[in-house]
Amino acid sequence: MNSASVDRLRAAIRDVSDFPKPGILFKDITPILGDGALFRLAVECLLDGADGRKIDKIVGIDARGFIFGAALAHHLGVGFVPVRKKGKLPHSTRGVAYALEYGEAEVEIHIDAVQPGEKVLIIDDLLATGGTAAAAVELVQGSGAEILGIAFLIELTFLGGRARLPEVPVWSVLSF
Ligand code: AMP
Repeated sequence: MNSASVDRLRAAIRDVSDFPKPGILFKDITPILGDGALFRLAVECLLDGADGRKIDKIVGIDARGFIFGAALAHHLGVGFVPVRKKGKLPHSTRGVAYALEYGEAEVEIHIDAVQPGEKVLIIDDLLATGGTAAAAVELVQGSGAEILGIAFLIELTFLGGRARLPEVPVWSVLSF
């Protein structure tokens, strides 16, 4: 990915103050989704860190990870697996609970969605504290799959989320 591409993506992200609650500066990626060239560029950049390695499945994290992850899976011609918030997946699931700033959340995966030995790339739009991503990593590891990496469009480096993901390669397209 060259710096001009990164600059174009960075310029398109809209900062929204105090959303969804006071004190949060929300990174809105919908301007990227709404522009065909930028959407394609974002998906290509997310793939860069895989360095051409063979990928068997893309795992996308609820909810914006579905948008980029599904586009990437389609681009590669490989399967897409959703990691969803608790209670949304219809078949038998495994879950991992994790702490939020206030309270707890849980994400789930279908028990048969990823097979032992499959090479998996995990996708989400943004790495903040890393709690959600760490839970997704634990779910995929529990399936016996090999995690090639976890890729984010945006990393909020000041929150140190990367430290929660010590066992897997982590890459991000844009850092703030
Ligand atoms: P975390 O578990 O703290 O790393 O939070 C990551 C999840 O929350 C991602 O799925 C993001 O979509 C969302 N998120 C957290 N902080 C922000 C933010 N400042 N702007 C946009 N999305 C965010």
